[in-house]
Formats: sequence, structure tokens, C-alpha cells
Amino acid sequence: MDNTASITDIDYDTIVIGGGIAGVSIAYELAEHRSVAVLERESTLAYHTTGRSAATFLESYGNAVVRALTRSSREFFTSPPEFVDGPLTADLPLLVIAGEGELDALHALHDAVTATSNKHAGTVRHTSVALIDAHEAETINPMLRPGYTDLAMVDYGSLELDVHGLHQGFLRGLRRRGGAVMKSAGLVSARRERSAWLLEDAAGNRLRARTVVNAAGAWCDDVARMFGAAPIGIQPMRRTAFMVPGPKTIPAEFSAAPRTMTMSASEDFYFKPDGAGFLCSPAEETPQPPSDANPDDLEIARAIERLNEATRLEVRSVSTSWAGLRNFTADRTPVVGPDPVVDGLFWFAGQGGYGIQMAPALARAGASLADSGGLPVDLLEAGVSAAALAPGRTALAA
Ligand SMILES: Cc1cc2nc3c(=O)[nH]c(=O)nc-3n(C[C@H](O)[C@H](O)[C@H](O)COP(=O)(O)OP(=O)(O)OC[C@H]3O[C@@H](n4cnc5c(N)ncnc54)[C@H](O)[C@@H]3O)c2cc1C
Repeated sequence: MDNTASITDIDYDTIVIGGGIAGVSIAYELAEHRSVAVLERESTLAYHTTGRSAATFLESYGNAVVRALTRSSREFFTSPPEFVDGPLTADLPLLVIAGEGELDALHALHDAVTATSNKHAGTVRHTSVALIDAHEAETINPMLRPGYTDLAMVDYGSLELDVHGLHQGFLRGLRRRGGAVMKSAGLVSARRERSAWLLEDAAGNRLRARTVVNAAGAWCDDVARMFGAAPIGIQPMRRTAFMVPGPKTIPAEFSAAPRTMTMSASEDFYFKPDGAGFLCSPAEETPQPPSDANPDDLEIARAIERLNEATRLEVRSVSTSWAGLRNFTADRTPVVGPDPVVDGLFWFAGQGGYGIQMAPALARAGASLADSGGLPVDLLEAGVSAAALAPGRTALAA
């Protein structure tokens, strides 16, 4: 083994581990000023969580930092750059419904969302959030069972996203900037040699880079250990999704109504129209080790019960189901920044249940922190801070 690596032995300025939405988006941004390669363990990119999402953009979802990053990503989605094959969005208002026992949860959500809206009033011009009564909720989504909903919150600014188009767009942009993508290239070891990292993949290929970005989703803590860094406590949480056929009789009002994403205030189910059927989820958060996640039949049965209680979907069968891991930190905020101890290791982790909708702004945040140590002005103005994203923040020290 060569122990005399000098700066001239560098293959890439930066190697990004992980070819999901996190990896390709930050790789694209970094490639503006650096030579960049993405290493992906699977033979297909976006095979894990990125390929298994519900494809929604919900500014009312997640904590204040997540919402700020989501708001700051809106323009990218609605007016994508030329290297992305648009359009990436379709209108999909979010309806959060409260049945019996869910009013407190609904009011808490509404208070949190409107508090953020007031604080950053200049940047939420697209979002229109309101509490509405049962009648209005049932008019917006005629698939709701009359009499189930007590009160609801509508967010007219929510969108449906083309996740594949977004991922492909970042990939195209990365390649145009000279970036490389290596599939079936799972990182198995990392060794510091002078001012560079020597990386080895499962096939024995070796690469050198000055900086490594850890964008390995559920495996971020495992990857960190390869660099001798302390894990930050990423907890993968399984979430199941499934498709059901539409009911035998679709109410005429439904065909005329706008498509909506409908979620219970206690987040124990959601559904949205998808083709001729509906995409549904029990919205569970079941802790699991990193893995190729499988759907949970018991959770599906529970969700069907809830859906049949709250809606007129008349769910009797499931056409297909899948699951993915949503990867959370202790404070449910992503981790973006240099490792506090290990030189040349940069975290881009903990995207949770929002990694698609935040991707454009989070990637800009990551590249800016990597390049200059600071955040772009628009993200600071939107309420994001480097401290809130920092790997060394106290909220992560459990
Ligand atoms: C059911 C469900 C619904 C969701 N709905 C939404 C939604 O509507 N909107 C939204 O914004 N978000 C949603 N999410 C969350 C979103 O999908 C994630 O936040 C996002 O996909 C995370 O992307 P990622 O790149 O971090 O992870 P991944 O896509 O999992 O990518 C990580 C990659 O790293 C690779 N890797 C790991 N270890 C190594 C190694 N040693 N060497 C090389 N490669 C490695 C893996 O193979 C993997 O491809 C949902 C998630 C689920 C499960």
C-alpha cells in the first residue's frame, strides 16, 4: 500500500458517499468549484429511501428549520433550472383533518405553522394556511366520510413533486459540471494519508479525496465510524406506503374537486390520489437498524381500518406496498457541516421525512458551509442558521 500520498495523488477534491437525493444534490452544488465523485453501493441510484417517498412538498410539515428549508426550495421546484426537465410540480393542497380527540394536535400544528408564517412573512407569499370547518373540508376532499371530521387545516401551497425528475436533474447538472458517479461502489474502509482520505470500495477500488461528504442516509453513522468519527445518533424509522384501487363508485363531486393530500392530525394515516387509485400510508415511525426496509402488514391493516373510518375509500385490497427508512436525528433537524473532530469529513445527514422537499435549499446550504463556512444570505433570512445544522450541536449529544 502506498503510504506516501501527496497532494498530487488526489483523484477528486470531494467524494460524496450515497447516490440518493442528498448525495446527488450536494454533489451538484459542490461541483461548481471542485472535482466531485459520488460513490453509491447499489447498482441503481435512489434505490433506498429516495425511491420510496410519497413525493409531496408540504411547507406545513416538520420543525421550524425544516419548514424554512422547504420554503426556500419552492422556487427551484416551481421554476427549475434549465438542466432539470420540468415541470417538477403539480398542485396538491394539504388537508389535515381532526376527528374525535385530535383537536389539540390540529391547533398545535396550526399555531406552529402560522407562527413561522408571521415571523418570515416576506417569504411565505405562496402559502395559504387556514383552519376550516367540516363542511369546507368535505367539499375540498369529497372522499372524506361525512361527519368524521370535526375541524381541519388546509395548506393551499402544498405540491406534488416529480422525485425522479428532480434526482435525474441533479445528476445531469452534476455530469455537466464534470462530476463522476460510480455505482456498485460501496465504501468499506477509509484511511487518512497526510491531507487526503484513501477510500476503498467493496470491489477493492481505491480513490483519494481531500474531503468526503457523508450522505449515506440510514448508514451515515456506519460510514462515520469508518473515518474514526463519533456517530451522531441517526435513527432510521421505517414508514410503509401502499396503493389501493379507487372505490367502486367515485362520488361525482370527487372527480370535479382538486386533488389533495389528506392526513390525520395525529399523523396516523394519510392518502392522496395516484393514477386510478390512491397512495396511502399508516405513517408509522418504527425504529429499525439500517436495511432494505420491508412494508409491515399489521401497519397496513391498521391504516385500512382508519381509512375506512375517516373516508369513503372503501379499502378492501392492496395492489402494492413498500417501505423506506426516514432517518432522524434527536432534534429532527438535518446535520450539515464538518465533523467537529475528524478532518476532511463533512456530514450531510438526517433528512428525515423531508429530504426531497428540502433538497434544493439543503444542498445549497451544504455546499456553502463546505466552501465558506457560512450559509447563503437568503437561507439566513429564512431563519436557518449554521448552528442549528452543526454536527457538534448540543441537541445531538444524547
Ligand atoms: C414512505 C416514505 C414517504 C416519504 N415521503 C416524503 C415526501 O413526501 N417528501 C419528502 O420530502 N420526503 C419524503 N420522505 C423522506 C425522503 O424520501 C428522504 O428524506 C430522502 O429520500 C433521504 O434521501 P437520502 O439521499 O438521505 O437517503 P437514501 O435515498 O437512502 O440514499 C442514501 C444512499 O447511500 C447509499 N449508501 C449507504 N452506505 C453506503 C456506502 N458505504 N457506500 C456507498 N453508498 C452507500 C445507500 O445505498 C443509499 O442509496 C419519505 C420517506 C418514506 C420512507
